[in-house]
Amino acid sequence: MLIYKGIIYFFFLNSRGMRVVIIGGGAAGMSAASRIRRLKRDFEIVVFERTGMVSHAPCGIPYYLEGVI
Ligand SMILES: Cc1cc2nc3c(=O)[nH]c(=O)nc-3n(C[C@H](O)[C@H](O)[C@H](O)COP(=O)(O)OP(=O)(O)OC[C@H]3O[C@@H](n4cnc5c(N)ncnc54)[C@H](O)[C@@H]3O)c2cc1C
Repeated sequence: MLIYKGIIYFFFLNSRGMRVVIIGGGAAGMSAASRIRRLKRDFEIVVFERTGMVSHAPCGIPYYLEGVI
């Protein structure tokens, strides 16, 4: 297990190679998944997200609450 920049990664060896499990599909988690995919095309990448949304942008919440968007 590795914790880097607030993201928890689990690395497993499966029969085909490396499997990376990322907890959290926010900006950091999905950025990590994209980066790993670019660098290691053969890695299996699994992202667990507890909500129904991935790559969501909390920065927009104030605009939503204000009725701007
Ligand atoms: C109101 C508001 C305004 C902001 N405005 C700006 C701005 O203008 N500019 C800026 O740069 N930043 C802004 N930010 C900060 C920015 O949104 C965060 O820095 C960024 O979202 C952090 O991304 P993250 O992936 O680290 O964490 P998060 O976006 O919090 O993602 C973490 C994800 O992990 C999931 N998760 C947590 N625990 C588990 C679990 N046990 N199992 C599965 N999934 C789990 C969560 O559901 C979440 O989707 C703002 C934040 C807020 C709240």
